Amino acid sequence: MRLNPLFASLPTTVFERMSGLARQHDAVNLGQGFPDGPEPADLLEAAARALRERSNQYPPSRGLPELRAAAADFYNRFDGLALTPENVVVTSGATEAIAAALMAAVTPGDEVVVIEPAYDAYRPLIGRAGGVVRAVSLAPPEWRLTAEALEAAVTPRTRVLVFNNPLNPAGRAFDAAEVEAVASVCRRHDLIAVSDEVWERLVYDDRRHLSLSSVPGMFERTLKIGSAGKLFGLTGWKVGFITGGGALLEAAAKAHQFITFSTPPHLQAAVAEGLIWPTERFVDQAAALARSRDVLAEALKAEGFVVLPSEATYFLCLDLKSSGVVASAVAFADRAVAEHGVAGIPVSAFMSGEAGGGVLRLCFAKPDAVLEEAARRLGKARHGD
Ligand code: GLN
Repeated sequence: MRLNPLFASLPTTVFERMSGLARQHDAVNLGQGFPDGPEPADLLEAAARALRERSNQYPPSRGLPELRAAAADFYNRFDGLALTPENVVVTSGATEAIAAALMAAVTPGDEVVVIEPAYDAYRPLIGRAGGVVRAVSLAPPEWRLTAEALEAAVTPRTRVLVFNNPLNPAGRAFDAAEVEAVASVCRRHDLIAVSDEVWERLVYDDRRHLSLSSVPGMFERTLKIGSAGKLFGLTGWKVGFITGGGALLEAAAKAHQFITFSTPPHLQAAVAEGLIWPTERFVDQAAALARSRDVLAEALKAEGFVVLPSEATYFLCLDLKSSGVVASAVAFADRAVAEHGVAGIPVSAFMSGEAGGGVLRLCFAKPDAVLEEAARRLGKARHGD
């Protein structure tokens, strides 16, 4: 049978694979990024109410009017933009939003700059749109992005740049100079930016998230991706947003109408209620996660691991090499889940080169007891006993 080789030759995503192994071995799962409760009861109740009391038929393809309005207000509040509901398209999760954005922006033959480590969905989706990836590779422990590295990846065929800020799995919240470096490369070379900002409200230690859309000259060339799953710790809901304007957003909305067409209306109604939460509630969520990060980091240090800083996201990284582990992160992760009952994600899954080979990503959005048990088990895996 002749199949599209792009998908036929693709391995199962590392997140699905590691979650499967975690279930199989009854392991503590610090792999795929999702929180272990508590889930926001008000939003669960809002979804249940909407399911019972409101229409369960197709909502408008671009989203429920109330959700588009709430998303516009949310981004105006946090990013200082002046969006209207027309600037918002609701999607079935951020991954669908990324697919629609890339289908809209990439013409076959275009080169697309991707900053690695990168979410493993970008590369196949760019390939499916006919684009050719040009990778800019960041290196641990700083994972710093420079204008020179970006410039070196741009050619006359470059049309699109994919930016992920904050950056999963590195836990980087890029600073103003780095975001400006991305913006100036886009402006100078007339690039469209797909800005995946799903971790925008999970930024720690008084750092500020700077949205690429809010940088002068960027709104009109940027499709910004958001995620209700990440905003509210409800990753299974798969409600995402594309924000932008003009012909660029129109094209993404057209792509969306033939990927999923629309997104379950009761979940949209509930997300609209979450987006109007007071700012303190988002701040409190981030503070609780920063605390969990510290619990995991301390427990891992006590086991003798070298822990890389995490400024944002659900994740921190272990520098296995500096921790005295000779095995690759892939081999260590496989052994840790099968023999010691703890799952993590090797950062090499996010990189085409070697830079992630000795780094393991761990999700800290878990209760303290789970984090402490995971650290103990990783310590055993490290000693090979
Ligand atoms: N973004 C999630 C993570 O990094 C994975 C998303 C998914 O598995 N679809 O864990």
